Amino acid sequence: MEFKVGKSVFFLEEGDLTLQETEAIVNAANSRLAGGGGVDGAIHRAGGPAIMEESRKIGGCPTGQAVITTGGNLKAKYVIHTVGPIYQGGSQGEARLLASAYHESLTLAHKKGIRSLAFPSLSTGAYGYPLEEAARIAVKTVADYLRQHPVFDRVGFVLFGNQAFQTYAQAASKELQSLRK
Ligand code: ADP
Repeated sequence: MEFKVGKSVFFLEEGDLTLQETEAIVNAANSRLAGGGGVDGAIHRAGGPAIMEESRKIGGCPTGQAVITTGGNLKAKYVIHTVGPIYQGGSQGEARLLASAYHESLTLAHKKGIRSLAFPSLSTGAYGYPLEEAARIAVKTVADYLRQHPVFDRVGFVLFGNQAFQTYAQAASKELQSLRK
């Protein structure tokens, strides 16, 4: 599914983020950059040890911020590691921190001159963020950035499983009405 937002193509796909051929992919990392399960584990398995070596040198990343490493053996040249919030009921600044994780990832990609970028659904696995609310924030934050900064060719989401894909598709249809390509 694709939409035109500003000068960029905004895409939604169902599949495995580690197979993406965008210039960079975004990792749902933890603040110690220590690796883990979910998409983080999949990225390290597919990308090989170079990603962890660089992550160790960087040392960590606060919630809502982003750092960048090589993509190792991945098709993507870079991995942007961002840390979404752990959902604790919604009154601990989770929405702001989730938006920040998307925004800081885009800002870092922009600074690096990266032209295509794929995200997973941050915080909606182990970190427990309710999917619908997370999808709304994710789609809005990315679309706003693309409207304000016409610097990317393609930016979007690779969703794991049909439920996540459908939820993001619905959020995107609401946010991007009439822009469908
Ligand atoms: P978090 O700790 O931020 O919640 P998780 O990795 O546990 O991160 O989950 C984030 C999302 O990534 C979940 O929706 C999960 O289904 C999804 N996911 C897991 N593996 C992959 C993958 N290979 N490609 C894309 N998404 C994935």
